[in-house]
Amino acid sequence: MKLVEKKVALVTGASRGIGRSIAMRLAQEGADVAFTYLSSIEKGEALVKELEQFGVKAKGYRSDASDFQAAEQLVTDVLADFGKLDILINNAGVTRDGLLMRMTEEQWDTVMTINLKSVFNLTKASIKSMMRARSGSIINITSVVGISGNAGQANYSASKAGIIGFTKSVALELGSRNIRSNAVAPGFIETEMTDAIDAKAVEEWKQSIPMKRGGQPEDVADACIFLASDLSRYITGQVLQVDGGMLT
Ligand code: NAP
Repeated sequence: MKLVEKKVALVTGASRGIGRSIAMRLAQEGADVAFTYLSSIEKGEALVKELEQFGVKAKGYRSDASDFQAAEQLVTDVLADFGKLDILINNAGVTRDGLLMRMTEEQWDTVMTINLKSVFNLTKASIKSMMRARSGSIINITSVVGISGNAGQANYSASKAGIIGFTKSVALELGSRNIRSNAVAPGFIETEMTDAIDAKAVEEWKQSIPMKRGGQPEDVADACIFLASDLSRYITGQVLQVDGGMLT
């Protein structure tokens, strides 16, 4: 038996990186997968075909996770297309790094809106059908810097810390309806997001990780599969770090 057979999952920001890996693992484990992207239209279309190779239903939606009304419309469309929604993975995220002295209001607002408000938007839109079904698993992708803070990432760290508070609150509000809410906190994962960081800084960073290497998107996806599946049926309100021991 596959781990999420016949479940329907929605993953935000799955055109590349961690979200793409999560979508692939969900399909491999038997889930029908709805996913979103913002600008990577070709990559989104290619992903549909790759997901379908696992014999599941798949559909990509171009939808801005930071837009409240677009999120409501997205969930309405997913329910119409797939019939139900069992698993929500709030993955879409961006960085706009800079020291606080130089950080602009726009850098702050962009990161808070795309990283944190999006989680509110999608979760609020999804819980009605989950409450009716008395079942659901919500997984929010935060970051270890949401726990530790990080110089040059005051906006990003605050958005990720906000996700943790939100995740725990939803767990408290909806546990009695059998809806679980957990967060996954990646450390340093090799994607386009981290490609943007200076190579020397990356090498120093890797050496500071107890496992002496960066993680791969698949490492995060495997943690998400655990939290999405019934293997974690009595786990809610938790933050699972996937960081090679970076933050202990
Ligand atoms: P990535 O490679 O930059 O991919 C980001 C994804 O989010 C893309 O699919 C992008 O779509 C989508 N996206 C961006 N803005 C969006 C919006 N407004 N609405 C819908 N989709 C949007 O990033 P990643 O490294 O895979 O990161 C994924 C998540 O993990 C993020 O939340 C990030 O903060 C978190 N994380 C990453 C690391 C790491 O080391 N990589 C560590 C900790 C946490 P388009 O392709 O269409 O732009």
